[in-house]
Amino acid sequence: MNLKQRDKNHIWHPLTQHKLHPETIGITKAQGCILFDEDGNEYIDAIASWYTCMYGHCNSYITQKVATQMQVLDQVVFSGFTHEPAIKLSEALIEILPSNQNKLFFSDNGSTSVEIGIKMALQFHFNQGEKRNVLLAFEDGFHGDTFGAMSVSGLSIYNGPFEDFFLDVKRIPTPNGENHEAILYLLKELTSKYKIAGFVYEPLVQGAAAMKMHNPEGLNSILRFCKTNNIITVADEVMTGFGKTGHFFASDYLDIKPDIICLSKALTGGLLPMAITSCSQEIFDAFYSDDMSKGLFHGHTYSGNPLSCTAALAGIELLKSDDIQINIQRIITSHETFGKHIKNHSKVASIRQTGIIFALDLNIEMERYGNLRDKLFQFFMNNGVFLRPLGNTIYIQAPYVISKKQLQKVYQVIEGALDSL
Ligand SMILES: *Cc1c(COP(=O)(O)O)cnc(C)c1O
Repeated sequence: MNLKQRDKNHIWHPLTQHKLHPETIGITKAQGCILFDEDGNEYIDAIASWYTCMYGHCNSYITQKVATQMQVLDQVVFSGFTHEPAIKLSEALIEILPSNQNKLFFSDNGSTSVEIGIKMALQFHFNQGEKRNVLLAFEDGFHGDTFGAMSVSGLSIYNGPFEDFFLDVKRIPTPNGENHEAILYLLKELTSKYKIAGFVYEPLVQGAAAMKMHNPEGLNSILRFCKTNNIITVADEVMTGFGKTGHFFASDYLDIKPDIICLSKALTGGLLPMAITSCSQEIFDAFYSDDMSKGLFHGHTYSGNPLSCTAALAGIELLKSDDIQINIQRIITSHETFGKHIKNHSKVASIRQTGIIFALDLNIEMERYGNLRDKLFQFFMNNGVFLRPLGNTIYIQAPYVISKKQLQKVYQVIEGALDSL
């Protein structure tokens, strides 16, 4: 039996309705930008396996560093112990994070990094004797699938069974260039009614909302409002971090720096799971006390895993290299050229781009998990390109190491798909 048949026996896949989508694709190997399946097909990974493998799959610089580290120290409790990989990573990361960030808290996936951000924001006020019990978030954000992260995400039919158990969250619209006054009015109203502890947001690009983009000005004014009202700002850069927007972090485009930043996905270049919640010295200081109970009582078994730290450090070294920086600029320019061309296509409603993240909306209605979306996905796969349309949005978030030729093929297959509709 091959992989896709054996898979059916015992495996329950993420975000999958198994009755409607029983088929999986058995992947046997990945190298650079290419995924290889068990039937001998190759696919260009044009979404970097959910935006993780930005330096290419099985990048030898990262794998060799991890291979060396795993002969020396594999795993150790991170409460009371420390080690060189975590310390080196902390030094390298603080150097590239927005300048107000000074402390790092380790965990192991994007959702938990958000949970930790939320707990930091709530306890920040609690420790000062102030009980603030409401959070603020964008209507259509996505922050993960654990309870806190789900609570601050947009409402959808998929969290119906859980909504009754959510944290208390008030939602505001994403800035669109026209709703500026309305948002500020709403913020004033909300702060007069509720005790708001923190604001959780995806800066500039909202991934699961189909790569919806907003400009820094609108967000700046919301963040400024939060600062003045002592609302802790939590930037979820799980997707936007590590070069995707053209800067190291989306927050680099903003005048107001967040108090807390959530990181994962490209953090380890896709090699190992890890997440980090960074914060300012001011946040850390609110937990620093002779009183034990003022500490942050949160921790995961694999917090600060030495192998993950090693992968992350290698990833940051690559990100800072001239090679990768030049590639990022090349991809940005290339997308701009493609955008100018494809926006005139009769099936395209609009295009948008932030850094290496490119998206286009079709002027055809599609359900998020509907048949037409599945057909589009199949067309891409049949033509050797792995893209995952979000409803009627097609987006590219390819590894920084994608070659000119591979990128041209991605564009051609997208255009071919539009022609076929
Ligand atoms: C993917 C994602 C998450 C959740 O990360 P997981 O590792 O899947 O738990 C949270 N926030 C954003 C913006 C994401 O893109």
